[in-house]
Amino acid sequence: MADMVRAGRCVVAVDGPSGSGKSTVSRRLAGLLGARYLDTGAMYRAITWAVLRAGVDPTDIEAVVKVAREIDLEVGVDPETSRVAVDGTRVDQEIRGPEVTAAVSAVSAVPEVRRLMLEMQRESIAAAGRIVVEGRDIGTVVAPDADLKVFLTASADARAQRRSAEQAADVAMTAADLARRDRLDSTRATSPLQQAPDAVVLDTTELGIDEVVARLRGMLDERVVA
Ligand code: C5P
Repeated sequence: MADMVRAGRCVVAVDGPSGSGKSTVSRRLAGLLGARYLDTGAMYRAITWAVLRAGVDPTDIEAVVKVAREIDLEVGVDPETSRVAVDGTRVDQEIRGPEVTAAVSAVSAVPEVRRLMLEMQRESIAAAGRIVVEGRDIGTVVAPDADLKVFLTASADARAQRRSAEQAADVAMTAADLARRDRLDSTRATSPLQQAPDAVVLDTTELGIDEVVARLRGMLDERVVA
């Protein structure tokens, strides 16, 4: 492990439910480490956006797979920007909209969609250098050999407060949506949201972003020295 970090290669896996702070923490950590950053949720969101654009029912598995196979998906790995493009068109904003959020768990539960994404995600991870990868199944499935696996949690209340503030949405509705998505993401058959047995669990309910990032940085430093 230390050899990989010394050689400039290092994979950090950050998993957890929606609103646990994954994106902010992962981006900040990647910036600090001079690492690339891969937002795997953005990949599932982009496919969902393409499914909706095509007028396809997100529960029609065959049609969803066809869209996923045919689109040209590009996901940037610069932590400063969040470039996501489908067939050459940037969709960074569109993939955060309520329609995509409502349909993404159905699309991400399709095994063939996950297989296609896994292939792309592993290609990104295999490229040279350091990378922070965030999602739901990174420590368990995508990068089980990651140098550091983190599982972020937070109380349902805190998560709903954060998300509703980000999106200027009603707290009760946001809480209901998060609960629905977490239930679907945790109970699907293929690669459910799950804590890896060797993940470091951090409850961010009472912790600020700076504190979480500093702790993760400290853990990585310890591993380099170890
Ligand atoms: O992280 P974010 O909320 O943008 O993820 C959107 C959705 O993408 C999740 O609710 C989940 O259904 C799916 N997802 C997944 N596996 C990942 C990342 C996200 O299934 N590794």
